[in-house]
Amino acid sequence: MNSHDKYLVFLPSCILVKGYERSVILDIQRAVLDFVPNDVYDIFQKYNKQKIGDILLNYNNEEQEIVMEYIGFLMQNEYAILGTKHDAEHIPAMSLKYNFCGQITNCICEYSEFTHKNIRRILNIIDIQLGCSALQIVCNKQLTIKELIIFLENLQHITYLNHLEVVLPYLPEYSDKDLDKLLCNPIINRLILYSAPFDNVKDLKHTFIVYLRENLNNNTCGIVDKSYFTQNIFHITEALHHNTCLHRKLFIDKNGNIKNCPYSETVFGNILNDDVEKIITTPSFKKYWNIKKDEIEVCKDCEFRYVCTDCRIFIKNRNNIYSQPEHCHYNTYITKWKGEEGYVTVEEWLKKNNTL
Ligand code: SF4
Repeated sequence: MNSHDKYLVFLPSCILVKGYERSVILDIQRAVLDFVPNDVYDIFQKYNKQKIGDILLNYNNEEQEIVMEYIGFLMQNEYAILGTKHDAEHIPAMSLKYNFCGQITNCICEYSEFTHKNIRRILNIIDIQLGCSALQIVCNKQLTIKELIIFLENLQHITYLNHLEVVLPYLPEYSDKDLDKLLCNPIINRLILYSAPFDNVKDLKHTFIVYLRENLNNNTCGIVDKSYFTQNIFHITEALHHNTCLHRKLFIDKNGNIKNCPYSETVFGNILNDDVEKIITTPSFKKYWNIKKDEIEVCKDCEFRYVCTDCRIFIKNRNNIYSQPEHCHYNTYITKWKGEEGYVTVEEWLKKNNTL
């Protein structure tokens, strides 16, 4: 069979996202992100599952050569196949519907005497009642090994949570031996020790200990960086339909107050005194849940918009909830990160190009 009689079939696990200057292919199965020209995105949009011969009819001789080069690239990297009519008709598209059975996906709980004392009740609410799958406990106070052991013992009664992270300040008295012993119980997926004298990640097989030099403060929240990109179907479908920063997220402060996130000011009630299930369904609690990256200024032009983290608290224009995250230093219009040669800020670029 001549290649012109075959059908171009993009693999269902590959999602193409068009940006201002270039597109990305997100291969969800292999967690690969590849850059391609926007023309490849257009070919995908218009001609996926069509016969090569028919596709080429839309281009002149010179363009046909380029189109065939693109197709060669897609096949070589296993993003597409040249299949039969049967393949084109029967390889289904992947569902991009967002699916999560719990009411809350992630919860951050601030450690304090109050939360320590009530941790079992709190866990019962977020774990059993709300079906939350990931919990981060953030402690701003130094805990001795003994205090840490007592606290972790209280976290034993976890049923649905599949990710538990504890964040606390580093103490020199935390010896490797103590920590190994402490974490031999596999309920903690990650222990983050900040204000440490070094940066390091220790893999203990069932858990990680992350040592961070940096301190925890407002400036580290909402930072946009390539290393924070998340390329899995759960994150991508959430980004397509909801806000990845606040959608189904819950913050419990040191007094048990319920907020959207650690840096938002509005208190919606108290974890022990109020009906949390009711609170999280109120329009005010859900106010920002559905602000998608496709609606956010600048991000809507960015090829990274479905793998990027968002932040609705630290934004460039506090009077415009659709403005870009304040701590983003990527300029999608020139595809450069701050520090790269030729980088200018988005604002400078927009001004120069008369779009501001
Ligand atoms: S512009 Fe920045 S914050 Fe927006 S999607 Fe792109 S990298 Fe993320």
